[in-house]
Amino acid sequence: MKEHIDDLAIFGGLPAFQEALHVGRPNFGNRERLLMRIDDMLNRKWLSNNGPYVQELERRIADMIGVRNCIVMCNGTVALEIAIRALELKGEVIIPSFTFVATAHALQWQEITPVFCDIDPDTHTIDPLCIEKMITPRTTGIIGVHLWGRPCDIAALEEIAAAHRLKLLFDAAHGFGCSYKNRMIGSFGNAEVFSFHPTKFFNTSEGGAIVTNNDVLAAKIRLMKNFGFSGYDNVIYVGTNGKMNEFSALMGLTNLESLNDFIAINQNNYQAYRQELGSVPGVSLIDYDHGEKCNYQYVVLEIDEAITQVTRDQLVEILRAENVLARRYFYPGCHRMEPYRSHFPHAGLVLPETERVAKRVLSLPTGTAVGPDEIRKICHILRLAIEYGPQARERLSDHGPAVPMTKHINAGARWSVPTNREGQALSI
Ligand SMILES: *Cc1c(COP(=O)(O)O)cnc(C)c1O
Repeated sequence: MKEHIDDLAIFGGLPAFQEALHVGRPNFGNRERLLMRIDDMLNRKWLSNNGPYVQELERRIADMIGVRNCIVMCNGTVALEIAIRALELKGEVIIPSFTFVATAHALQWQEITPVFCDIDPDTHTIDPLCIEKMITPRTTGIIGVHLWGRPCDIAALEEIAAAHRLKLLFDAAHGFGCSYKNRMIGSFGNAEVFSFHPTKFFNTSEGGAIVTNNDVLAAKIRLMKNFGFSGYDNVIYVGTNGKMNEFSALMGLTNLESLNDFIAINQNNYQAYRQELGSVPGVSLIDYDHGEKCNYQYVVLEIDEAITQVTRDQLVEILRAENVLARRYFYPGCHRMEPYRSHFPHAGLVLPETERVAKRVLSLPTGTAVGPDEIRKICHILRLAIEYGPQARERLSDHGPAVPMTKHINAGARWSVPTNREGQALSI
């Protein structure tokens, strides 16, 4: 056990973990079932174009959520783009800035202006009171994001959308398996969009879905995601290729069978973190409504630097040196990323809570790749770093990291999905 500040890897101690612990390591279902389905698929020689696994996955998800239509897609971003287009959004659309950049990009990609709205600091979701101030004659819709799987204030958003005749879409990338007022996320607004990316609670390797109770909208989306084909040789609409393939679908079907196990593991992990960090000054673990269904996929801390002394960014550095690859989701907010930063250089002025929260949050590893022993060690490191808070801050701010960051991060870290994503985002 590390006992002194010098035991921390960043100050020369041995890293607590040999192998990197990631935020968002994928959850896998039963391997035999997976391989059996792959065998089936190979025998069938049907790899894409609305194959039997895709059809089965769509049925299962629609049943589980209690929604009339589920259209699975190649990823969540394309699903968002298609949902936006099918709903005929244009001009301006109001979204939170505190989200993954794909929410904004899905609009910008189609030359629709994302208008960034502030969040409620308690829920981290879009603040309905701020939305009204952002509405202009050009506004056509609102996209709420159920961040961390915590539902938006859906009732308030529905009211605003109805009053102003705006379309209401939800980016439910984090919300699979969660409920709002005892109804599953996925059946609200005009439509909702899931991501089944490996970092998400439920994955199909890459994948996503649009879910909606509107049959006409669903029919349009089905055309759009398949080049506008209504049958062989008959194109009746402009479309793209948003199809999910059979590999992804069978992965999804297999993972779906283990959903309750994933939730149980995540919930245990969450409780372990709560127990370990409950009384650490300056650290608060975001809460979930335990009366609702919840996937507990995100362990998110808010760091109050005035109390911890050591900064949020320094805590991330300290953890990374120990091979705990903590993340600053979703720092610094979309409005501080390109092209939005250049388009709206002063957006931050109307986003005080977004700016404040983005500087405080820190995501920790959970999921099936992490257990109580790892969590105890991670929390011990955090407590030690905060116990020596002023000293740690001093030593890290004077000279930069005392140990080069790459020294202890082994090769395993390099394939890390989040790191790759970050790389991709930077290269745009
Ligand atoms: C992951 C994510 C997306 C994008 O989904 P992909 O499947 O990776 O394209 C969109 N919005 C949010 C909030 C996300 O977290």
